[in-house]
Amino acid sequence: MKVLQRCDNILERGQTEKESNMENTKPCSVCKQILLLQDFPNKSSTKSGKASACKPCNQAQKSARYRANLDKNREYQKAYYEANKSTIIARATKWAKDNPEKQYEHNRRWLLSQPGKANAYASNRRAKLKACEVFPISQRFLRKLYSSNCLYCGSHEQITADHVIPVELGGRHSEGNLVPACQSCNSSKGMNLLIIWKKKKGLA
Ligand SMILES: [Zn+2]
Ligand SMILES: [Zn+2]
Repeated sequence: MKVLQRCDNILERGQTEKESNMENTKPCSVCKQILLLQDFPNKSSTKSGKASACKPCNQAQKSARYRANLDKNREYQKAYYEANKSTIIARATKWAKDNPEKQYEHNRRWLLSQPGKANAYASNRRAKLKACEVFPISQRFLRKLYSSNCLYCGSHEQITADHVIPVELGGRHSEGNLVPACQSCNSSKGMNLLIIWKKKKGLA
């Protein structure tokens, strides 16, 4: 009698274990695998309290959404930039001019954070110089240039040699195309023609 009862208990226990196992599983809506509930992320808005996709599938969906959003955002930024290019550049240029230390710090940090890009930037610059017409420039000319005041604002600090017609726009690397410009004016003028830069600055 006692033996029989124990058998019954085992049977009963076995049954309930099996049943509860069934209750504790469900198929993933994405990969279709039957998985334990604990393999599904919690989602309070559902009846079971669990999401329909398993944890790995959920993660994959999330990162796919994130990437899609990133692409969308990039496209949006690009389109926005194209549509408002001149305003954006003018604003950035003005900011750089108003905050030379911040701009310098920003550039320095950017270059430090992107060694690859910094190298690319430098070699790009070299390639552009190579591609343009380069004429001999005398030491005397350079000495005079570097001891002059900025042609644009009259400052005598951080004098650089500015290509009046930017090399990027086909200007020559020649004495005739080089003028003294302070660092601030030079970087503000950047790739602009003088007349356009002056217009942007409201000087012409
Ligand atoms: Zn799955
Ligand atoms: Zn200047």
